[in-house]
Amino acid sequence: MSAHYEILRELGLLPLWRLRAQFVEIAQARAAIPPHAAESVAPFAVAPEVSSEPQAERIHRIAALEWREFAADVDACTACGLCRTRNKSVPGVGDMRAQWLFVGEAPGAEEDAKGEPFVGQAGRLLDNMLAALGMKRGMNVYIANILKCRPPGNRTPTPLEAESCRPYLDRQIALIRPALIVALGKSAATTLLNVDATIASLRGRLHRYQGVPLIVTYHPAYLLRNLPDKAKAWEDLCLARTTLRRLPASGQPALL
Ligand code: URA
Repeated sequence: MSAHYEILRELGLLPLWRLRAQFVEIAQARAAIPPHAAESVAPFAVAPEVSSEPQAERIHRIAALEWREFAADVDACTACGLCRTRNKSVPGVGDMRAQWLFVGEAPGAEEDAKGEPFVGQAGRLLDNMLAALGMKRGMNVYIANILKCRPPGNRTPTPLEAESCRPYLDRQIALIRPALIVALGKSAATTLLNVDATIASLRGRLHRYQGVPLIVTYHPAYLLRNLPDKAKAWEDLCLARTTLRRLPASGQPALL
């Protein structure tokens, strides 16, 4: 072993990781796209892919999609292995000019069968939460997920799958231009905020994703199993509503 490696070993800095060509390609794509969009391109590779489209090209192509092409593009996506097991892709549903964007984790079995997010039991609770706010699906509300395809057995999305799918969510955000994002559950919150943290530590305050104010709350499926936390979720939704009401035209929330 060389002296260089010996020093690194002594410092506990081994093994030494090197960027693979695929990673370099993503880093170059980050550098080439506008700053607000670049925030979302993480410096690591996508899930084991079945597509041969170079990552940089894919990111740029998705960033230019229009609504009329969006769902078909998601449906044709083969960027990660989930395309092999999905029945239907689940791009998202709702008002394309909504102020409220709700982001969940990934489609489950019922969503995979229907091609629409949150149509199962958790979806019914989400609809009730919206109703409590005087809102309903499709009216000033858009619902999407971090992943557009169901992970087998409803397992948690891997970071690579989430990264692979992120350009689609980012494009939805750019097209909808929501005033507020509500991240439903740990997976959505930690993916969007790029942190490893609990919901408890993230809720109750204002975050941002792509410059858009973001509030974190519990996932409806979690609330179905932990009924007492529904009160906290209601507090979060009230915070979201207050945030939205205090937004001046600039989109910058006044101090809460
Ligand atoms: N859970 C999610 O996170 N998203 C869905 O669409 C359904 C259940």
